[in-house]
Amino acid sequence: MTRHDVVVIGAGHNGLICAAYLAKAGLDTLLVEARDSVGGCASTVDAVGARVNICNCDHLMVRATPIVDELDLATHGLGYLDVDPALLALTWDGDAPWFLFSDPDRTLAWLAKTYPSQVPAYRAYLADSKAAARLVVSLSAGRAGLRSILGTVVAAGGRGARRLLSWSRRSALDVLASYFDEEPLLLPALVTGPTVWGLDPDAEGTGLAALGYAVRHQLTVGRPVGGSGALTDAVRSALEGAGGVVRCSSRVVGVERSDDGWIVKTTGATCEARAVVGACDPRTVRTDFLGEVDPTPEPDGFESKIDAVLTERPRYLALEGLDLGGVDPLVPTAVVSPTLSELMAACKERRQGRVVERPMLLVNLPSVLDETMRVGESGHVLSLEVLWTPYSLQGGWPGSNEPQRWLDQYATLVQTGFTDTIQAWRAMTPPDYEEQFGMRRGYAPSFPGTSVDAMLSRPRALARYRADQPGLYFTGAATYPGAGIWGASGRNAAAAIISDLS
Ligand SMILES: Cc1cc2nc3c(=O)[nH]c(=O)nc-3n(C[C@H](O)[C@H](O)[C@H](O)COP(=O)(O)OP(=O)(O)OC[C@H]3O[C@@H](n4cnc5c(N)ncnc54)[C@H](O)[C@@H]3O)c2cc1C
Repeated sequence: MTRHDVVVIGAGHNGLICAAYLAKAGLDTLLVEARDSVGGCASTVDAVGARVNICNCDHLMVRATPIVDELDLATHGLGYLDVDPALLALTWDGDAPWFLFSDPDRTLAWLAKTYPSQVPAYRAYLADSKAAARLVVSLSAGRAGLRSILGTVVAAGGRGARRLLSWSRRSALDVLASYFDEEPLLLPALVTGPTVWGLDPDAEGTGLAALGYAVRHQLTVGRPVGGSGALTDAVRSALEGAGGVVRCSSRVVGVERSDDGWIVKTTGATCEARAVVGACDPRTVRTDFLGEVDPTPEPDGFESKIDAVLTERPRYLALEGLDLGGVDPLVPTAVVSPTLSELMAACKERRQGRVVERPMLLVNLPSVLDETMRVGESGHVLSLEVLWTPYSLQGGWPGSNEPQRWLDQYATLVQTGFTDTIQAWRAMTPPDYEEQFGMRRGYAPSFPGTSVDAMLSRPRALARYRADQPGLYFTGAATYPGAGIWGASGRNAAAAIISDLS
């Protein structure tokens, strides 16, 4: 049996980042991962004859943190490509498209072409949201805990803090509808906010999703050269460079208290440590490993993703005849929204195990911006995230025609003959995430609440770095500041552990 200072369970980006900081601080750190490679949802894998990202690969919040610099990830091979514009807003009904650029003035100039009536609304939104967005960005890089959060809020001054507080209590729909009266303007923020969180757009406590556009004017979305997994590969390299050890194909099957720490049992070996960090879903640690009864209902996964190789670039019909001014429309993630009433209906359908006729899509082609992801000379990789696709689909997933239907539906947005350009494709559904990534019921965010819950580290038993037993810690999407390629949780959890162990 090997003995370590800390054993981290799960090599998603948070587990890796946590382990890298621990190793840098001189702690003997072992990271164990069930899969044969690191990265979890942030990884890039071989599939359909290409390199494909597991997540949608829009890295935003990690860029607000000092992690890339502190872990010196550039020297470990990480380079980011800026994604600007960050979003292309499309609707199933073929409404006029609009782009969200990092520069608010470029965004306004585009809106002046397609939604002139919404230009004053967007200006008012920008004026109201700017200070709050700046505050969210500084909060996201900082520590968890009421004292630290309050300290940042007070330092930021009154305006942003007041807005943050008042919007956080409301629903995203309520906040956005108070500015925009054209649905194509408010829908993308609803889809990239509450929809991605698995919440209804009119659910109270989702109001901070309205900051979605403003935050993208503060931070530029980035994609690592070579795919999302280039981030996690670089963190692994930094971790190993600092003396940490990564053990893949090593699923943890149990943890138990020992006299002076914890015993961690994996499929390959047993080890002992002063501290153990659950960097997988904390429910797995609580219920499967420690045998506790979870009083909160287990949420169901709700997203799926199609990865495809295309022999040529798709062309959006909604953009035909528009002067794009040199913008490549396939660089940003396209948010495809149904009408607001369809989105509301989708919430009910999902609860009954059905996918709506016209689902919400987040679509990008990472190979357009990043030539290293091309397939051969001209082949492109299509990443099509589909929401909401219930874990417990009526009729079951095996043999379901749903994934084919999403592709056929997407084909209606682009040039005739698109389907013939698909060389190979696959679908990842909630049961696939459960089986391949240890996500319980395929629930990707591992987080059962709103951004406010994340900020307040609720529920306590799952969302705190320091658990209720000495030497037991959590990090990952279930803890502050929540889901997404962010890494602040891994960094914060490491700081708590370093402080406790030294
Ligand atoms: C389809 C999809 C698209 C997304 N798109 C984006 C996006 O564009 N931008 C963004 O910011 N976020 C996106 N996300 C969310 C983001 O990917 C996740 O929130 C984030 O990667 C979670 O990281 P993590 O480190 O907390 O956990 P994970 O990445 O889930 O890592 C947990 C790790 O623990 C391992 N593990 C589990 N159980 C065990 C065990 N018993 N023993 C050992 N190891 C175990 C797993 O194999 C996994 O490697 C997306 C997610 C999905 C599913």
